Amino acid sequence: MSESWVRGLKCRVCGKFYPKEPNNFCPDDFGPLEVDYNYDAIAESISKEQIDRRPDNMWKFRELLPIDGTPTVGSQVGGTPLVKADRLGKALGVSELYIKNDAVNFPTLSFKDRVVSVALSKAKEFGFDTVGCASTGNLANSVAANASAAGLNSCILVPADLEPAKILGTSIFGSRLIRIDGTYDQVNRLCTQIAFRYGWAFVNINMRAYYAEGSKTLTMEVVEQLGWKAPQNFVVPMAGGSLICKVDKALRELHQVGLLDNIPASKIHGAQASGCSPITTAVKNGTDTIRPVRKPDTIAKSLAIGDPADGFFAQQVIRNSGGWAEDASDEDIVEGIQLLAETEGIFAETAGGVTVSVARKLLEQGRINRDESLVLCITGNGLKTQDCLTDAVNQAEVIPPSLEAFESLVETKELAPTV
Ligand SMILES: *Cc1c(COP(=O)(O)O)cnc(C)c1O
Ligand SMILES: [Zn+2]
Repeated sequence: MSESWVRGLKCRVCGKFYPKEPNNFCPDDFGPLEVDYNYDAIAESISKEQIDRRPDNMWKFRELLPIDGTPTVGSQVGGTPLVKADRLGKALGVSELYIKNDAVNFPTLSFKDRVVSVALSKAKEFGFDTVGCASTGNLANSVAANASAAGLNSCILVPADLEPAKILGTSIFGSRLIRIDGTYDQVNRLCTQIAFRYGWAFVNINMRAYYAEGSKTLTMEVVEQLGWKAPQNFVVPMAGGSLICKVDKALRELHQVGLLDNIPASKIHGAQASGCSPITTAVKNGTDTIRPVRKPDTIAKSLAIGDPADGFFAQQVIRNSGGWAEDASDEDIVEGIQLLAETEGIFAETAGGVTVSVARKLLEQGRINRDESLVLCITGNGLKTQDCLTDAVNQAEVIPPSLEAFESLVETKELAPTV
């Protein structure tokens, strides 16, 4: 049904072209490959009005996704709310604030459903019957769920110390989950060997060029939801640095195909946890050399990638856009989660705490202007990372079922919201 506008894959270092294959690097310089489209043809075939009329899911941007036929996996992913966050805006001191809420993405409550639906649809086109991933948690959940729904076998490798909800939220789908006694970077290296040895489609390894394209739809939805306008600032959480690169690519492509009138000028800011901050550290030190973090130590496990695959490109996107980067301590992360919950009624995971807390710092530092529009990318759901909150959140009192007991309780405690 849908046509493909993909010309092929292109090396992000030397620009050399490669055919559409399950291959993620250029043998000449080991540069990562990226999907390249025929933008002129796309520009002629789509319009804002046409896209506005399509169902609210990520496939409304299918011309800019690398699937040749109709997508077969994740047909309902995306279309998440863009919330005008006035109460959080007031607390942070910024006049026009929005939350792109991928904490409620279908089906596994993180933005990873976007990348996985593209990677698995493409894996089916290539004829694979087994898929897999190296994951810090959310990707594992999404590959497992989407593979089950698509009738694909899945083999998933994660660091052993992940949150219990992310482990259970993978096993429940009946996929082969293997916990590795090591860091994410060690898991990732092992998966590279497995992918080539067994000939499976690892979504973030040999399928990475296709996979990463799914992230663009988060930004494309934001632009459509703002009435085909880009915000002046984004704050984006970073693990491997893929999502933040695709914020930039999405804006450029929308302009190139005529869906965004102005040349993109959004400042793109990056956020990491202080216990694993290879990209923000490079930006803050004014260097383009990413120094890997050997042993990440943070409650934001979803972002704990010590040697980020797209780290170099991520710092480049941040710098070229006029953005900046900051990181958040474990204490800041918990505060960020609570502030978002208490002001907007949105329960985000630790990565969301990182984003909120970094936005606050960048506003305080004057890196983000308080009178400019700002979109925070909230990428995962708090129900999966409750463990870090047990000390911070008050335990509710237990009382006998009597009015007397209720009265004596409410007369000594404040019931009003704290923010
Ligand atoms: C994976 C992930 C990210 C960022 O991932 P990149 O590797 O930088 O694309 C952000 N937030 C959450 C919750 C994630 O799971
Ligand atoms: Zn190359």
